[in-house]
Amino acid sequence: MNFQTVLNDIYNHVVSVKDKGTIASYIPELAHVDINNFGLHLKIKNGEEYGVGHYNKPFSIQSISKVLALALAASQKGSTILNRLGVEPSGHPFNQLALLEIENGIPRNPFINSGAIVVADILVTLFENPVESFLNYIRDLTGDKNINYNPNIAKSEKESGYRNYATANLLKSFGNLHNSVEEVLDYYFMQCALEMTCEQITKSFHLFANKGKCLFEKTRLTEQQVKRINAIMLTCGFYDEAGEFAFEVGLPGKSGVGGGIVALLPDNYVITTWAPGLNEKGNSKLGMLALEQFTTKTQLSIF
Ligand code: GLU
Repeated sequence: MNFQTVLNDIYNHVVSVKDKGTIASYIPELAHVDINNFGLHLKIKNGEEYGVGHYNKPFSIQSISKVLALALAASQKGSTILNRLGVEPSGHPFNQLALLEIENGIPRNPFINSGAIVVADILVTLFENPVESFLNYIRDLTGDKNINYNPNIAKSEKESGYRNYATANLLKSFGNLHNSVEEVLDYYFMQCALEMTCEQITKSFHLFANKGKCLFEKTRLTEQQVKRINAIMLTCGFYDEAGEFAFEVGLPGKSGVGGGIVALLPDNYVITTWAPGLNEKGNSKLGMLALEQFTTKTQLSIF
């Protein structure tokens, strides 16, 4: 199969779509991005790589970071982290508070904000300088020292992150946040403000398509941990649209409000797309379309 032709065809189709969705503006600094950006990058397990459009332009990875943070926490703490978190889809928006109150401060899964804040708390306990340790982890996974945070985006989210403060306070009131609200959220906002290109994200997710071994064949997670994290991506990776994503695309993955989506076929490939306009559920509108086209054209999905 000529993957470059497949990617080029998808690009030509997707960029002609008029309704590109809406850029997230609840983090004011995110709203400055040009809605016409579109990038797609594919890496096959055998090493072949293909890209089209703005696949080498850094963007705010936001919630995509939650998967990498979970991987880092799981590699250090194993399944004990599940004492503080569930693995069920929430069926509610990612920043909803009501469910957390009803379920006594145990977040439904690690990819809604409450769950990601618990994972952030675990990393804050584990590392003296979690901001630096998380960055080094991502740089090690990719072999790329150019990856960095955008502190302006973290600052903008800190100034407007009332819901995340409410969530962290609720977790604290249930005893499911061990460090201070300030310390955990300062780390969490930086984690979400990591900037990466489609290509860098694809590389960082290689371990999930390679039974826990990163790009450099170093074992980062056990096969069982990878199986489990991939399962959580499939069921919880797309806000309350995980069912639709499985139906249309058929891959585990994760999206972020910056407009990125990464998805993978275990033992086969990782693909990342970036288009900043979001649909009403918060997933990249053109990104979802591009990935649906990819698995339809190549027949390479888990189903
Ligand atoms: N930093 C964002 C928040 O906590 C991440 C949201 C997302 O990408 O889903 O609201």
